[in-house]
Amino acid sequence: MSNQTDETPELSVIIPVFNEGDNLRPLVERLIPALACVKSFEIVLVDDGSSDSTMEVARALNAADPRVTAVSFSRNFGKEIAIAAGVDAARGKGAVIMDADLQHPPEAIALFVEKWREGYQNIFGVRRSRETDSAARKWLTGHFYRLFAAFGEIGLPEGAGDFRLLDRVALDALKTLREQARFSKGLYAWIGFKSIGVPFDVAERNAGQSKFSYRKLTRFALDGLVSFSTAPLKVWTYIGMAIAAFALANALYYVLETLIFGVSAPGFATLVVSITFFAGVQLISLGVLGEYIGRVFAEVKGRPLYLVQERVGTQRVGAAPAA
Ligand code: UDP
Ligand code: MG
Repeated sequence: MSNQTDETPELSVIIPVFNEGDNLRPLVERLIPALACVKSFEIVLVDDGSSDSTMEVARALNAADPRVTAVSFSRNFGKEIAIAAGVDAARGKGAVIMDADLQHPPEAIALFVEKWREGYQNIFGVRRSRETDSAARKWLTGHFYRLFAAFGEIGLPEGAGDFRLLDRVALDALKTLREQARFSKGLYAWIGFKSIGVPFDVAERNAGQSKFSYRKLTRFALDGLVSFSTAPLKVWTYIGMAIAAFALANALYYVLETLIFGVSAPGFATLVVSITFFAGVQLISLGVLGEYIGRVFAEVKGRPLYLVQERVGTQRVGAAPAA
């Protein structure tokens, strides 16, 4: 077997990995035959601060086949950032991004490559169904996408996720986007290039459980909306105007009422309700400001996206490039 770490492989396969020690071997075993559709390849495992056997398995896989390489983080930075590190490390003329849990069938890569050879540069897998997701997650996802479609500044293709093939031009474009609050789905759509969807069936997770709690998913959804929409910031202008108009009309009404019927005392309920309601509205708008300012703060600090603990199968050492 030739050591391919010295030459440019045709295709890189970027895999974010977080505590998937039991999945890596079955994954690589299925991946290698599926990659017969390209001349040469490298597999870039990005270990997102796993605490299980992930890195031992990665080292063993690299020793057995140098085309399997790995980068590990100093801690858990999140899947979106792991993908960014994979894009930084990938040397291929194109790269596939896929999950480590075999939910993304390696056999679909051949279909992506076919489209790539036809000249497409941003080939995204489109899941045929969401059967593998829980009912609650499906419900929340559906509502998120509706919200995003209404307020987001870019369109997201229905059912598209991270499983995709990007040509070198798209990879280089992604590398220039160094934002901290990363919503990859939005970034793939934002860069554009010749895009096409290829349907695939999502499989059940091979081993272990989903690494996304509802808390993580909520964070992710907020990142997505806030990164690609300023509507939540601007809507307060309109809500404020509506409330002010209402208050003005109300004031006018009281003046007239007093002039016509004289002074009246009742009105406690109105007072309490309006005070609590408007206090709520103001807190919500402050919270929205906080969401944006928090992200501005994170960007302004200019920290690197991630820190590398170890590289396996590549010579490069040290932290992420700044740009
Ligand atoms: N993942 C990661 N960092 C995290 C969480 C997940 O790199 O903080 C990886 C995980 O190992 C897997 C992929 O992201 O390869 C998708 O995660 P998972 O299967 O848990 O998500 P789901 O399929 O439920 O969306
Ligand atoms: Mg999964």
